[in-house]
Amino acid sequence: MLTPSYQKLKDILSKSIDSKRILTNPLQTLAYGTDASFYRLIPQIVILAHNETEVVEIIKQAKLLDIALTFRAAGTSLSGQAITDSVLVVATHGWKNFELLDNNQKIKLEPGIVGARANTFLAPHGLKIGPDPASIGAAMIGGIVANNASGMCCGTAQNSYQTIADIRIVLHDGTLLDTADTNSVADFKKNQTALIHEIENLRDTIKSDETLYQRIKNKFKIKNTTGYSINALVDYEDPIEIIKHLMVGSEGTLAFISNVTFKTIIDEKYKSCSLLIFNSIQDACNATILLKSSPVAAVELLDRKSIQSVENDPEAPLYFKTLPESACALLVECRDNDLNVLLQKQEEIRSQIQSIPTYTDYEFTRDLKQYYFNWKARKGLLPTVGGMRKTGTSVIIEDVAFPLSHLAEACLELKDLFKKYEYHDAYLFGHALEGNLHLVFSQDFSNQDEVDRYEKLMSELAILVVDRFDGSLKAEHGTGRNMAPFVEKEWGTTAYEIMKRIKNIFDPNNKINPDVLINPDPKAHLKNLKPMPESHVIVDKCMECGFCEPHCVSEGLTLSPRQRIVIAREISRLEETNDDPQRLAAIRKDVTYQLDETCATDGLCALACPVYIDTGKFVKEWRASKLNVDDKKIASYIGSHMAGTTSGLRIGLKIVAGFHNILGTTIMATLSNGFHFLSFGKVPKWIPEMPKGANKINTNQ
Ligand SMILES: Cc1cc2nc3c(=O)[nH]c(=O)nc-3n(C[C@H](O)[C@H](O)[C@H](O)COP(=O)(O)OP(=O)(O)OC[C@H]3O[C@@H](n4cnc5c(N)ncnc54)[C@H](O)[C@@H]3O)c2cc1C
Ligand code: SF4
Repeated sequence: MLTPSYQKLKDILSKSIDSKRILTNPLQTLAYGTDASFYRLIPQIVILAHNETEVVEIIKQAKLLDIALTFRAAGTSLSGQAITDSVLVVATHGWKNFELLDNNQKIKLEPGIVGARANTFLAPHGLKIGPDPASIGAAMIGGIVANNASGMCCGTAQNSYQTIADIRIVLHDGTLLDTADTNSVADFKKNQTALIHEIENLRDTIKSDETLYQRIKNKFKIKNTTGYSINALVDYEDPIEIIKHLMVGSEGTLAFISNVTFKTIIDEKYKSCSLLIFNSIQDACNATILLKSSPVAAVELLDRKSIQSVENDPEAPLYFKTLPESACALLVECRDNDLNVLLQKQEEIRSQIQSIPTYTDYEFTRDLKQYYFNWKARKGLLPTVGGMRKTGTSVIIEDVAFPLSHLAEACLELKDLFKKYEYHDAYLFGHALEGNLHLVFSQDFSNQDEVDRYEKLMSELAILVVDRFDGSLKAEHGTGRNMAPFVEKEWGTTAYEIMKRIKNIFDPNNKINPDVLINPDPKAHLKNLKPMPESHVIVDKCMECGFCEPHCVSEGLTLSPRQRIVIAREISRLEETNDDPQRLAAIRKDVTYQLDETCATDGLCALACPVYIDTGKFVKEWRASKLNVDDKKIASYIGSHMAGTTSGLRIGLKIVAGFHNILGTTIMATLSNGFHFLSFGKVPKWIPEMPKGANKINTNQ
């Protein structure tokens, strides 16, 4: 039951937006309440917005009713920034337009385009977009820009911040700014003088404070997504340029992004890579420092535990199993459009690091099998931890960065910290060239002791990263709810006050994704933790990452595989605890159509799933569990009489098609609807698209 203001918002918006796209039932709000983070909030209303006009109307009406909004793209973010208990505006379907501009030097993209899809538009021209998160197969432009997502190769040079050319945004009161449109910019400058003035003031305040100015410059030399991209205020003079760049990494807290134009990047034709094993983390980190000034495209660090996780792979070299405990690997990638230059680059890299001994000899490879094994070893780390974790636990990916000169020390201290709090399954790997390390481990949130353990770990992690090494607490995954309590610690009060002013300039009533990025609650990171109850052995390892969603044929019609699992988990939890029978009944009411009947059970989702879950298989089991004795007898009869059944169906379809020929479409449809109604839905409806019975295939030919 909606509270009056939410009901009013729903009623008003239903006049201009198809009410089928304004979701309020418990099953659907729960399904969309989930993203890839370990937090969950269930929205009152989910609106599947299809265009900018709708978004402007939603923003204006929500403002009149003082209702908070959160925007969502693919929901693969990890820090709790794409969830809300208010109104969730999902801008995905219907946001797929793109345009190649300036002889392919730029590409304009709507926010619902998956990153990998954007790259397929550019691939024929040997180009790609800059940001390259590991989630690029599922994450969408809106989320990639709003999180300033980066990955293995883009570093700090080719992320959204560096490659954005233009942006179109909707502000908290419905005002539009399109930085690519001179008229829009002129109107904005004329009508938003106060906002422009405030931005200029902020810029000047920072420029007159040398310490702060230098601090901002320094902190963005390594990857940093903690707080707002306040480097915009030192990198640019023009307030429109500042606004454009402030939107990058703003995590949907400043405005809605309607489209983004990126400068495109060359996607080199020739690629080679090598797995370099060093005797210690220190050696690997020292080599990284040398590699920073050599022609590498990527340098990924894998600690000993990470290597161990792939040593049983049939393609893994035998020596993996015999490596000493102290060993550490660097996966080094080289790229060029000219093969000779690529070979020269390889040699340059080799001579650059020759002063540091490696555990074994190494070669750069372009052999597809070896090349893919090396990258599989790196990319398979998340599935390894995800797949091995205890049922009921969440996978946590911490995402920190250190100045390169401190990387080795930081790695060792991080390992000690994880040992101290008994996170024995913690793996350390990441984008070494950027000082960016991911720490992946499993965490139980089902009891207070475990939550306390996590709290202690986080407090000490903040001390280690900030006080010891002046690093970034969030390098590429965004602040979200997860790091919001630590933004001031990382940046200091002066910079934090500037961030609060930025939020206030763009969102004076704190209604655009509140509690994210700026949050005064020091315990925000310990609240709204997502339950991960046991449900079914096929889906228990699901990390709710959302990678399966673009592969699902029913996503958007009803549920995606991730959402099916979310619903199944909540049903299991409610059955187990019996704490809200009414809610259980409400979810159950829609589950047959949403979860079961509309799943194609084709298993396509398993192809994209990092932990190889086939949700289709799970749905088949779900169906089987709902069958009664008679259903099972019929199924068993059909199974053992397939020839007769198909022949009967062929004849049946031919008869129906015959009636259609005689009666015509209108009479046939009327009669069919009548029978359907009179039989209380037992006789299925006929539709003109229904196939005719085919002739029997002659298998003897
Ligand atoms: C397994 C895994 C691996 C990952 N690897 C990486 C990695 O290598 N590098 C990396 O950087 N990240 C990584 N991520 C994190 C995540 O995938 C990225 O941050 C991604 O960019 C999020 O995009 P999304 O479309 O899922 O956005 P969402 O999660 O839907 O939203 C992200 C943020 O953007 C805002 N937003 C979305 N659309 C709009 C809009 N139209 N206007 C305004 N705000 C909007 C939301 O409010 C939210 O704050 C990974 C995640 C997973 C699960
Ligand atoms: S089923 Fe697999 S791909 Fe889908 S959300 Fe779960 S873990 Fe991710």
